Formats: sequence, structure tokens, C-alpha cells
Amino acid sequence: MSHPIADIAVIGAGIIGTSIAERLQYEGQKVWLIDRNQPGEGCSKGNAGHFATDIILPLANFSTLLKVPALLSDPLGPLSIQWHYFPKLVPWLIRFSWAAMPHKSRTTIEALKQLNRPSIERFQALLNRTKLQDLMTNRGALTVFSTAKSQKKCQQHMRLVEPHGVSVSLLNAQALNQLEPSLSENVQGALYYPDTAHSINPHRLVTGLADVFINNGGKFIQQQIERIENKSNHLMNCIIILSYSFLNYYLYMICYKNKIFFDIKYTNINFDSI
Ligand SMILES: Cc1cc2nc3c(=O)[nH]c(=O)nc-3n(C[C@H](O)[C@H](O)[C@H](O)COP(=O)(O)OP(=O)(O)OC[C@H]3O[C@@H](n4cnc5c(N)ncnc54)[C@H](O)[C@@H]3O)c2cc1C
Repeated sequence: MSHPIADIAVIGAGIIGTSIAERLQYEGQKVWLIDRNQPGEGCSKGNAGHFATDIILPLANFSTLLKVPALLSDPLGPLSIQWHYFPKLVPWLIRFSWAAMPHKSRTTIEALKQLNRPSIERFQALLNRTKLQDLMTNRGALTVFSTAKSQKKCQQHMRLVEPHGVSVSLLNAQALNQLEPSLSENVQGALYYPDTAHSINPHRLVTGLADVFINNGGKFIQQQIERIENKSNHLMNCIIILSYSFLNYYLYMICYKNKIFFDIKYTNINFDSI
């Protein structure tokens, strides 16, 4: 069996994997982008397209955990668990609870700040280079409130994020109406985050980047990956980057300065046909 000729294989062609693949190829690497579906058919197809630089407080916190029973008991709620799946979920729940500890939380906030700070500018540069700039808009974001209780929560949130450098202001109904006149009259005000951006079409963002990648010579392979194993006696000179979700781990990156040696186990793939 002949061996694949790629410097880097990126597994998962969502917005993360496709951006990584395109960038690495731009840097001169021979890259494969692998996904069991066509690019952008996972979460990146239907996400809200929010470049969430305002979100620096980790989801893993004790107030989220305390809400879980109420969320599960609501048949129309956003969270549902198939109970036969629960044993598989336990290790993840333990890690989630561990991540909610105050010292871990502080580390996560610092990490999110580092990631968020340059992200919009860099994504803008990526889209300008690939001529996809029309898919991004920089109009900021609003968190609206329509009751005194939700206003209080918004103000509490503002007090938590402002010291971390998140640009946010509280708008009263009049100021909000000037900014966004089409909102319901029930809305009493909002938190306004002027520095965030949105993709106007998250799916097209991924397919557009994948097209650029392929048109410039990158190889897209539609294939389910079953497992990846290190086989030191059967070396394949290739860096593997995993960018697909398993529960909350939506970005795994195995990337070493010196190349690492892995063998990818495909199902039904014929290396000679690639
Ligand atoms: C309703 C909703 C709204 C969201 N809104 C936002 C938002 O506004 N802003 C934000 O930042 N985030 C949002 N998110 C989170 C969002 O999903 C991520 O930010 C983003 O889409 C993740 O991209 P990704 O490339 O990591 O994952 P995905 O787009 O899911 O890509 C992973 C890819 O891996 C492939 N794959 C998985 N396993 C295998 C395998 N074994 N072999 C081969 N291929 C495999 C899948 O087919 C998939 O295409 C939202 C999520 C949801 C559910």
C-alpha cells in the first residue's frame, strides 16, 4: 500500500478545521481536509454566526450546573439527555465540574481573553485575503431585557465582564430604539457590545473557505475517520489536526514542531486512488 502524500491532515471540515486547513495551505503546506460529510455540514452550518469576543465567562460554572435539573425537567427546554447515554456522560460531567472550580475558571477567562482579543481582526484579514469579506459584518451585539429581573442580571453580567476589558454599555429603551428600531416595544433596554461581529451566512463562510482551499490545490476527502493510532513501526510522515466535536471538546489539536508519526485508520479508503 502506498502512503499518502500530505504534510498535514486536518480532520473535521467545520469552520475551525477549514480555516486551519486553508491557512496552512497558504503557508505552503500540503494539506488534506477530511470530513465524513461535505464541508460545513456540522455545527458550523447552523450556528448563530456570532464572533463572540464578548463571551469570556466560561460556560462551565456552578450556576450552569445548578440549572441542569430545571432544564432537564422542561420538555421544551434546550437540554435533553437520553438516559441510556448517561454513563458515557459521567466522565465529561466530572471534567465539567472540575473546570467550574474558581481557580480553573480564572485560567479559562485569561485563555479566552487571549483568544478573543485578536480574533475578529485576524478573521477579517483571512476573509479579505480569500475575498469572502462580504460574509462578515461588524455591527456589534445586543443582549436585550424586558423585565426588571433580567435587567438586574444584565447589570450583574456587565460588572463581571467590564473589568476584563470587554467593551459594553447599558442602553435604555430610547437609545436602543435608535440603534435597532425594529425591536418589540416590550424590550426595555439592552447591553450593547460594539466590538463584536457576525457572519451573515455561517454555512457559506465554511463552503467559501473550502472552495478557496480546493481551488488552490488542497485535497478534500469525504471519509469517516474511525480511529488514529500511533504505529512507530509503520511511519507515516504527517501531522494530524483534529477539529471535530466530542461533547464539549470541539477543538483537539495534535500539532508538534517536529513532525509526529501517526497512521490514520480509514474505513474503505484506497490510498492509491487519492
Ligand atoms: C445552535 C448553535 C448555535 C451556535 N452559535 C454559535 C455562535 O454564534 N458563535 C460561536 O462561536 N459558536 C456558536 N456555536 C458553537 C459552534 O458550533 C462552533 O462555534 C462552531 O460551529 C464549531 O465549529 P467546528 O469546526 O469546531 O465544528 P463543526 O462545524 O461541527 O465541524 C466538525 C466536523 O467534524 C466532522 N467529523 C466529526 N467526527 C468525524 C469523524 N469521525 N470522521 C470525519 N469527520 C468527522 C463533522 O462531520 C463536522 O463537519 C453554536 C452552536 C450551536 C449548536
